[in-house]
Amino acid sequence: MHFYAFDEKGNQVSAHQADKRLYYFCRECLGLVKSRGGLLRHLHFYHLEPNRSCRQDGKSLVHLQVQHYLQNCLPGCELEKRFPLINRIADLFWEKEGLVIEIQCSPISAREIDARNLDYASLGYRVLWILHDRLFNRHRLTAAEYLLQDSFHYFTNIDSEGVGYIYDQGDRIEKGKRVLTLGFRKVNFFSYHSHLKESMVFGNYPPWIKKRLESWRGYFTGDYLDYFLTMQEPEKAALLSALSVDEQSGVMQVGKKLQPGIKRKLKKLIRLISYFYRLGLNFILEKLAK
Ligand SMILES: [Zn+2]
Repeated sequence: MHFYAFDEKGNQVSAHQADKRLYYFCRECLGLVKSRGGLLRHLHFYHLEPNRSCRQDGKSLVHLQVQHYLQNCLPGCELEKRFPLINRIADLFWEKEGLVIEIQCSPISAREIDARNLDYASLGYRVLWILHDRLFNRHRLTAAEYLLQDSFHYFTNIDSEGVGYIYDQGDRIEKGKRVLTLGFRKVNFFSYHSHLKESMVFGNYPPWIKKRLESWRGYFTGDYLDYFLTMQEPEKAALLSALSVDEQSGVMQVGKKLQPGIKRKLKKLIRLISYFYRLGLNFILEKLAK
C-alpha cells in the first residue's frame, strides 16, 4: 500500500487525486495499481498483482498510519519521496532538516539497514528509523536493532486505527539481549532540536547517552536525550548513582556479582538487599518521571 503512483503519462498522482476506476503504475516496480479507501481508511494505492520484491506493495495499513502520523507532526515533510539517483523511495523526507525517516513494520536485515543508511548518506541525508514494536523492542535484539543501537531511532506502537505513539527506549544491552530497561518515554514529534552542542558530550551522562550526543545530531522533545539534557544536576546525580554507571566499561551496572561461596551463605540477605534496592530505584525513577 502506498500514497503515490504514476499515471499513464508518468506524472505523480496522489491517492486523493486518483480516479478509482482507472489504472495507475507503482513508482517502484511499475506494476499496475488502483486506488481505494475513503471514509474509514486513508486513500491509498494497492497492487493488482502482489509483488513481494516491491517495498511499496509490502507496506501494511499500520505502516501507512505511522507515515500519516509523522506527516501531521512535521511541517513540510514529504511522503514517499523518490530519490532516482539511488533508486529509493523514502517513507518520509524532511528536507529542512536533511532527514529521511524510514518506518519498519516488517523484518529487515542489518545489511539492508546499512545499505539504505549509506545510500542516503551519499546524498547528504541522515536516516531516522522508526521500528514497530510488534516485531522489534523484544528481549532479544534483532541484528537490525543491534546495528541501530547508537543510531538515531525510536519505536512505535501505532496500530491500524492510527492509535498509539512513538517512543524512545533506554536499555542496557548485553550479548544481544535487553538486560535492564529504564522504560519508555513518549516522543513529541512536534518539537525537534536540530543542534546538539559539542560541549554537551563532556557532561556527566551514562555512556549510551554520550554516544547519542556524539552521533545523533538532533533529537525530539521527550526522548532520553531531552530527558538527560534538561534534568537538574541533583536529580541527574541521584539517577546516575542509582544506576551505578560504570564509565570505563560503558555499561549501566546495577548490583555487583558475588563470589559463589559467599552467595550460598548470604542468599537470604542478598534477596533482601535486592528487594530494597529495586524499591529504591523504582522510587527514584518515579520521582524523576513526574
Ligand atoms: Zn510496486
